[in-house]
Amino acid sequence: MEGVEIFDSPGKGRGLRATKEFWAGDVIFTEQSISSVCFDGHAERICHSCFRRQDKLQRCGQCKFAHYCDRTCQRAGWAEHKQECGAIKAYGKTPNESVRLVARIMWRLDKEGSKVSDMQLTTLDELEDHLADMPEDELKDLKVDIHNFLDYWPRKSKQHTIDDVSHLFGVINCNGFTVSDQRGLQAVGVGLFPSLCLVNHDCWPNCTVILNHGNQSAVNTLFHSQQRIELRALGKITEGEELTVAYVDYLNLSKERQRMLKLQYYFDCTCDHCKNRTKDDIKMGGREVDGVKPTEEQVKEASDFCFEMLGKMDAARLKGDYHEVVKICREAIKKAEPVLADTHIYLIRLWSMMSEVQAYLQYNDDAAEYSRKMVEGYLKIYPQNHAGLGMAAMRAGVNHWQAGEIEIGHGMVCKAYAILMVTHGPLHPITKDLEEMRMQTEMELRMFKENEFVYHSMREAALKNRPMTMLNEPKSVEDNIKNLFHRRK
Ligand SMILES: [Zn+2]
Ligand SMILES: [Zn+2]
Ligand SMILES: [Zn+2]
Repeated sequence: MEGVEIFDSPGKGRGLRATKEFWAGDVIFTEQSISSVCFDGHAERICHSCFRRQDKLQRCGQCKFAHYCDRTCQRAGWAEHKQECGAIKAYGKTPNESVRLVARIMWRLDKEGSKVSDMQLTTLDELEDHLADMPEDELKDLKVDIHNFLDYWPRKSKQHTIDDVSHLFGVINCNGFTVSDQRGLQAVGVGLFPSLCLVNHDCWPNCTVILNHGNQSAVNTLFHSQQRIELRALGKITEGEELTVAYVDYLNLSKERQRMLKLQYYFDCTCDHCKNRTKDDIKMGGREVDGVKPTEEQVKEASDFCFEMLGKMDAARLKGDYHEVVKICREAIKKAEPVLADTHIYLIRLWSMMSEVQAYLQYNDDAAEYSRKMVEGYLKIYPQNHAGLGMAAMRAGVNHWQAGEIEIGHGMVCKAYAILMVTHGPLHPITKDLEEMRMQTEMELRMFKENEFVYHSMREAALKNRPMTMLNEPKSVEDNIKNLFHRRK
């Protein structure tokens, strides 16, 4: 592979470093998964070949488990599904996602050898399984999976030792990559990308990884491109520099990030941002009004209150009681805003939830106001080119457009577009959506400046057609894709 090499990263084990210079938005490498599977809970809602979410899917007539968009997807997925199909039929039921993934990987490696492509930088044998670091209860779950795997694995397939099977379960436990739907908005499955596993974590990384579903509309199976990940440079990377991605969301405090990393990936983060607790103060800070800061006690009290309210809101959201969510949220914001800094992470979460629910309920002015506050908070916390910041700016852009605030809306859409060109690239479906929004809002803005009356009547017509709706059901914080790798439950 050109541009990168494996090296011994001090204190981290194996890592990847650049052998040439990269710039923001450069694709450092792309990789297809060795295999990926959809989550148990999504088996009937997404295509097992291209992982698109679809309303109508066709079921595999043999196993009745696999679902596909159409014949093209079914044919494209057959090589991977063939043995699985027979095994599910013989087993009489469908094993869970971990067992299915390990089996698919095994079948593939048995057929093609330990390296399935020249681009693959490492074999799976060389990857860490961290079995020795696993706590007792996790090991117990793992043993249940292994037991089920042995029942499920056909006798006519090549037989493997328990150690080999356990190793693979350990590898996918800490390296299974979260696969999202085609728009990158929902986690729908898990896959293994071996070269990506070599990229170490940093809380303030120089790369990002994005899943691109490629061209799925091609009718010919040959051109029906596989999903693949892209490792993209977030800024200038010099020759010899280690390549890093963030495994957990930077929005968390350093202590929380370290706890999460230890729990899932079994290491202690010693990055500069953790060592110096960078930005922890503003993420938990008080609001200064006319040179006067609230006391530590006041900040703590408001923080605790927000935290409690966030829990209540999530419960109400789960019940689908969105008016209750708004009520709790409004009360919490009223109490917290005068005390907490506009970078306080709980306050930002309140704004985020408020804007999402109000957009869903079509209170567009509220949705616009709170999404703007959220973006302004993110801007002070996240690095300049951060996918989460880009997506938030996109949301805010749509909310402002819907509220008729075309100038701010257009500005937000442009901001989002600039970020996503780096983090997602020009070919990603979301970037393409943004490009369209950018052109539309630009045209509207021009109209608005020329003739406000004409603009408003045109906008009313446009709103009726709703070309830019993003009225997804509001998600809970947990549903958002914040973890790069999938945590086994
Ligand atoms: Zn499909
Ligand atoms: Zn089948
Ligand atoms: Zn760190």
